[in-house]
Amino acid sequence: MRPLLLTAALLLSACYRAPVRQDDAIVHTDRVGYHHAYWHDPTITAAHHAGEVPLASIVPAGATLVDLTHVFDEETIYWPAEKHGFRRESAESDGPGGHYANGRFSTPEHGGTHLDAPSHFAAGKLTADRVPLPRLMARAIVIDISTKAEANSDALLEPGDIDAFEKEHGVIEPGSIVMVRTGWASRWPDRKRYLGDATVGATDKLHFPGISGAAAKRLVERDVAAVGIDTASLDHGPSRSFDAHKVFANAEIPAFENVARLDLVPEVGAVVIALPMKVGGGSGAPVRIVAVVP
Ligand SMILES: [Zn+2]
Repeated sequence: MRPLLLTAALLLSACYRAPVRQDDAIVHTDRVGYHHAYWHDPTITAAHHAGEVPLASIVPAGATLVDLTHVFDEETIYWPAEKHGFRRESAESDGPGGHYANGRFSTPEHGGTHLDAPSHFAAGKLTADRVPLPRLMARAIVIDISTKAEANSDALLEPGDIDAFEKEHGVIEPGSIVMVRTGWASRWPDRKRYLGDATVGATDKLHFPGISGAAAKRLVERDVAAVGIDTASLDHGPSRSFDAHKVFANAEIPAFENVARLDLVPEVGAVVIALPMKVGGGSGAPVRIVAVVP
């Protein structure tokens, strides 16, 4: 009887995987992909769901990895209201035990290439540590508005730009990460050209492109996983109402700002992996973003 019981117990444990708390979650690398259940459940189970995409099918052999992250150092651009940007001090020594280097850094949550957690603009919404992984790792699309941004620093992604994209590439799939390419990353780290004004502490003369509230609503309708932009903010420089921020935050959609090198990512076909520092309770966090380009 005993070996039989043991076999039954082993079989049961192999089939059953208990749900884990989201902050302990492991998403198996062979099963990373969009599944709606992941987004709204406070738990992630390791069970199979219909619609999951094996990693091997979205990261083809020979793909190129593109780092969409600006370096964090003393040149890193922060929102002008911040008194201090990225700070790091380091110490190095060479002793009998060999070389030793150590350092410490501090940073505001919003600056450089970073995550805007939904809690940034909506009380009670997801904080940086609670954003589900499938919102941070997904198929990506890039919508280009660089031509109109070149002509007008305050240009906005509008619903018409989304219509034009969808006419060419089809309707944006649920679970996509939508990146807005304005061409502004080429101005980094020149504060004056990137923000429109380099006055520390002042936010009333900013000029750079962004996303309109109406376009943000359209992307929420498309059930996108996350959005990103290669400027300092989702809302354009002159914004006082921060409509795009509010629309995405209320829909629990995380965002990435100051994204680099979107010129190297095709409009369709890439996968983006954007993993922020898991700051407990954070309204945002530095993020390392990588595009896998087939
Ligand atoms: Zn931010």
